[in-house]
Amino acid sequence: TTFADLGLSPELLQAVEEAGYTEPTPIQAEAIPAVLMMRDVLGIAQTGTGKTASFVLPMIDVLSNGRRRALMPRSLILAPTRELAAQVAENFEKYGKNNDLKMALLIGGVQMGEQVKALNDGVDVLIATPGRLMDLFERGKIMLNACELVVIDEADRMLDMGFIPDIEFICDKLPEKRQTLLFSATMPPPIAKLAKKFLDNPKRIEV
Ligand code: AMP
Repeated sequence: TTFADLGLSPELLQAVEEAGYTEPTPIQAEAIPAVLMMRDVLGIAQTGTGKTASFVLPMIDVLSNGRRRALMPRSLILAPTRELAAQVAENFEKYGKNNDLKMALLIGGVQMGEQVKALNDGVDVLIATPGRLMDLFERGKIMLNACELVVIDEADRMLDMGFIPDIEFICDKLPEKRQTLLFSATMPPPIAKLAKKFLDNPKRIEV
């Protein structure tokens, strides 16, 4: 399989080439076409498998093909830690440099003022840790009802850190009609339960 076989746009194929990737990793080969076909995905994969690109690349295409919603974020990526959220944001910028998408990184340890300003200017994608997202949501600074494409990354670490109630709270605020991708290195019962509740007939990919 080549990246071109997976259905990505020329802009993304160029970004992938510039990143120096010659072929998709196994999770990319399976997840990218599924996301482009608007399916939910349950990805069981460790860090180092190329899982970040397996959702970031097709998300950029899905968002670029969709219509921008005035001021309302259309997409949300949740990561357990600031560092992981920042890494996902870096990936988004690297792969999305040929696409005109706006992103806000919502993590703790950073003043809220800048984040609120970015939100008020309008963004396509929120990349967030659950704590800061909840905080901004409860202050009325974020609307989640247009987030039709959602990723929960490293769900088992979210569990270890006690974030499952926050994830449930956030998912309940998302539109019913949406596409949801959940990634986890392991599948303990609470994560399997979360996946059952929030994913609709997902493509299960285990690498
Ligand atoms: P991840 O599993 O998302 O943390 O990615 C692990 C590393 O693999 C990152 O440094 C990526 O830049 C790199 N990577 C992702 N996809 C590919 C690919 N198809 N070929 C080579 N390296 C890749």
